[in-house]
Amino acid sequence: MSAEPSFRQSVELMFNRAAALMDLPPGLEEKIRVCNSTYVVRFGVRMRGEMRTFTGYRSVHSEHMEPVKGGIRYAPNVNQDEVEALASLMTFKCALVEAPFGGSKGGLCIDPRHYEEEELERITRRFAYELIKRDLINPSQNVPAPDMGTSEREMAIIADQYARMNTTDINARACVTGKPVNGGGIQGRTEATGRGVEYALQEFFRHPDDVAEAGLSGKLEGKTVIVQGLGNVGYHAALFLSTEDGCKVTHIIERDGVLINENGLDIAHVRDWIAHHGGVKGCPHGTYSENGAAALEEPCDILIPAALEGVIHAGNAERIKAKLIIEAANGPITASADEVLRKRGVVIIPDLYANAGGVTVSYFEWVKNLSHIRFGRMQRRQEEARHLLIVNELERLSKDKELGWTLSPDFKEQYLRGAGELELVRSGLDDTMREAYQSMRHVWRSRQDVPDLRTAGYLVAIGRVAASYQAKGL
Ligand code: GLU
Repeated sequence: MSAEPSFRQSVELMFNRAAALMDLPPGLEEKIRVCNSTYVVRFGVRMRGEMRTFTGYRSVHSEHMEPVKGGIRYAPNVNQDEVEALASLMTFKCALVEAPFGGSKGGLCIDPRHYEEEELERITRRFAYELIKRDLINPSQNVPAPDMGTSEREMAIIADQYARMNTTDINARACVTGKPVNGGGIQGRTEATGRGVEYALQEFFRHPDDVAEAGLSGKLEGKTVIVQGLGNVGYHAALFLSTEDGCKVTHIIERDGVLINENGLDIAHVRDWIAHHGGVKGCPHGTYSENGAAALEEPCDILIPAALEGVIHAGNAERIKAKLIIEAANGPITASADEVLRKRGVVIIPDLYANAGGVTVSYFEWVKNLSHIRFGRMQRRQEEARHLLIVNELERLSKDKELGWTLSPDFKEQYLRGAGELELVRSGLDDTMREAYQSMRHVWRSRQDVPDLRTAGYLVAIGRVAASYQAKGL
């Protein structure tokens, strides 16, 4: 068996497969493929009676549009190869969902579980300081967001640090997204990536031909699902699919093993259990087994890897039984595994599309910060007043003409309610996920030489990045 490519090589192989089907001007392909720059910083923080040194990265893959965008990850195994791979995925992700950003990503080598909250604040502040002073965090140049191991708490600290260092910048809040709602964030950002996974699956199941391609039939409702990783993305995807779409989540794979319930797990309860016990072991809602890796290979309709990269590789791809895999994580399937799965007819909804819900709502948050007004604030009551006009008119007609019509209270309640920020964010996200799927699917379905959705997604994304370079005369 040949050695697995690294994460960055894996992304490059996928890029190359698509680029080979395009007719890019000489040199442009290389320009789009390579990562523009990676900044490595080693900084010290005094704690627990000593000076501790931490290593952090901020990689910029493509500046064809600015600001560049992408999360900051806190994990012990963060390294340059990984951050660069993730930065390039951000470029293609943003292009595919038409978020007007270049691609970037950051990482800090740290296991956040080993630090107190107050220590994490000092580490985050110092890391942010190093990046801000080099414009690697800046509302018009580089805008981070949460990723694995970070949340709105770290984003609030970064925003505060930027404001302290740029006291007269009226757009300071737009220097980072994924902030708490009461600190300049937007409704629906925390759940956005998981919600995007749900919308992606809903859109997939609107196309019977695509469903048949995966060897499945019918609707999303009733499908069995295995989820790996009940972090922010996996949790929200599993929660929405099970409570709103009628799916049955039969397996949840976590760090310490797998929890199984063929009748469907109660996601909120399992999440609660993990929060209190650190893992799924002992959770009374299902049967526990410590062999989490083997559970990836169990039969199911939909497999959702929502944890780390490289979990489906040359060593297990042959044994995966899922018919449809949706990459909620970044890079969960290596390039070698991708080949094997494709040959076996497994349909993969690729990461650059599947998990783009997060950056999509980050885009809305950034726009909200720059416009200094909440979405819906100007229109909501006006919309309600116009709807009330129709309802009153219908009721008047019914009475005057003795038609005997009555509007159901449920309809009236829903129709009369104007859209607030959360409804608008969901509508914008749903629209984005539908449009992006259709642009990929069009290429997949109309070109004989495009074998899968991933290649189609890269083709669309690379085409848009190339067009943007060409528009600048490069
Ligand atoms: N970290 C997320 C991702 O990988 C979100 C990035 C963002 O919102 O900028 O897509």
